Amino acid sequence: THNGIYVGRFAPSPTGPLHLGSLCTALGSYLDARAKGGQWLLRIENIDPPREQPGAAEAIIRSLQAHQLHWDGEILWQSQRSDAYNHALHQLLNNSAAFYCSCSRSQLSTVGGVHRGDCIAPLDRSDAAIRLRVADDDIHFHDRLLGPITQHPANDGDVVLRRRDGLFAYQLAVVVDDEHQGVTDIVRGYDLVSSTGWQLLLQRALGYHQPHYLHLPLLVDEHGDKLSKRSYAPPLDDLQPEHNIRQVLGYLNQPSPPPELSLTETLNWAVAHYQPNSIPSQPIAINPK
Ligand code: GLU
Repeated sequence: THNGIYVGRFAPSPTGPLHLGSLCTALGSYLDARAKGGQWLLRIENIDPPREQPGAAEAIIRSLQAHQLHWDGEILWQSQRSDAYNHALHQLLNNSAAFYCSCSRSQLSTVGGVHRGDCIAPLDRSDAAIRLRVADDDIHFHDRLLGPITQHPANDGDVVLRRRDGLFAYQLAVVVDDEHQGVTDIVRGYDLVSSTGWQLLLQRALGYHQPHYLHLPLLVDEHGDKLSKRSYAPPLDDLQPEHNIRQVLGYLNQPSPPPELSLTETLNWAVAHYQPNSIPSQPIAINPK
């Protein structure tokens, strides 16, 4: 419980411009926050330079502005949060909730690629990953759309928190920043359900609050694959924001705003008529072309 305060967020990785699938996530989290009178924050998850596309962060910001999805406060850039991530890592290492590991990919391939339990402590800690110690227990959580979910994170092993090359892992950064920003409600794509168990374990190990979760359906192509740059989902056309917003409202199975409304009015109308219970729980097949 967070005393009735709602803080939501949109947390794109700048691996490319927004497309209809990412607009769906942005709009879903925006509507959920605004309908509850909550805040909606923007965090750019730029912790993985090799995967980033130059200019993508700026393109994402421009698209959000063109679609009048206005966030509250300053943008949080994960590239500026190293001290906080290191602080959390130290806390976890001190509590033995995390450990150094220099197991190689080929060593792990002999055990199905999954790291479970203790390994030989590396001599050179600067050339080692840091992993979360994942207990062999079920974890239960409630998804506001999908209902009760049980996971067994140990099936996927001791998750990496800091990579051997020194980069912080998404799992660590997202948990540290959601706590730092006071996020109460995470509304994001279904592809991240499988990370939620690890994130709950991390929150517990760090003594953080547990947010509420709602995982939105993915937009998929005719093969059932998630829309992504790889599946050639075109970038959003920032010159047709009304059209895009209406299209995505349709995908989220929300009531259709009257056609004569401006973009601002359309968004306000969508907030006022937001029906979280109508959001489909199955993937939404669309033709991205
Ligand atoms: N940065 C992640 C992504 O773009 C989303 C993180 C989250 O919402 O937890 O896939």
